[in-house]
Amino acid sequence: MKVANGTAYDTRELKKIFHQVVRDLLKKRPSWAADWKEHGGDYRVKISNRLRDDFTSGHAQIGLEPVWWTHTHKRAQNMHLSIPKNVSVAKLAATFEHELYHAFGVDNHSDLPPSVNDCNPDPFAHYPELLGLPERLSYVVKVQKPKPTKEETQRKRVETLLERRKGWVTKARRAETALSKIDASLKRYRRQGHQVGDLPKAAKTKRAKRNAGRSR
Ligand SMILES: [Zn+2]
Repeated sequence: MKVANGTAYDTRELKKIFHQVVRDLLKKRPSWAADWKEHGGDYRVKISNRLRDDFTSGHAQIGLEPVWWTHTHKRAQNMHLSIPKNVSVAKLAATFEHELYHAFGVDNHSDLPPSVNDCNPDPFAHYPELLGLPERLSYVVKVQKPKPTKEETQRKRVETLLERRKGWVTKARRAETALSKIDASLKRYRRQGHQVGDLPKAAKTKRAKRNAGRSR
């Protein structure tokens, strides 16, 4: 079964419910099992938000075989469910079962068992406990982080610069220590008469030079 979930519900929770309904239905109707085995893997269910009221409604093609949009030749959904906010697990299961009967070829509502025709949720009252779900599903609301203000961005930038500066100050100190040790050794060799040549100073930044100039 493929579930195209257009809602903020957790797809895994929806699938859990649907698979359980299929299992329970095939226990009641073992002669349908072969048909499900052949087409169930590619059976397509589309879930949409229902915003106008609290009803759960559905629509299904008769039969499990793939259906095609005639104008685009693309695969269509076999079933469409429209579910409201905080949908009851039992009601959703009942609606799905009703539509599954159509999927297994029952066209006329008069041929449905009355409880199935009415989408009676009572036979599914144990589902939340059985599946470890709440009585009503809740939306997974993805909280979007508010965009940082210009000041926050700048403060963050200053923090980063101060951190980086700290790192470079440490490196500069280490470089100074290393240079003075090397210079001391080189000067020793020079005193012993070895050709050492000039020892250029480490480059200072323009600003450091300017400041050095000012202080004199
Ligand atoms: Zn129907």
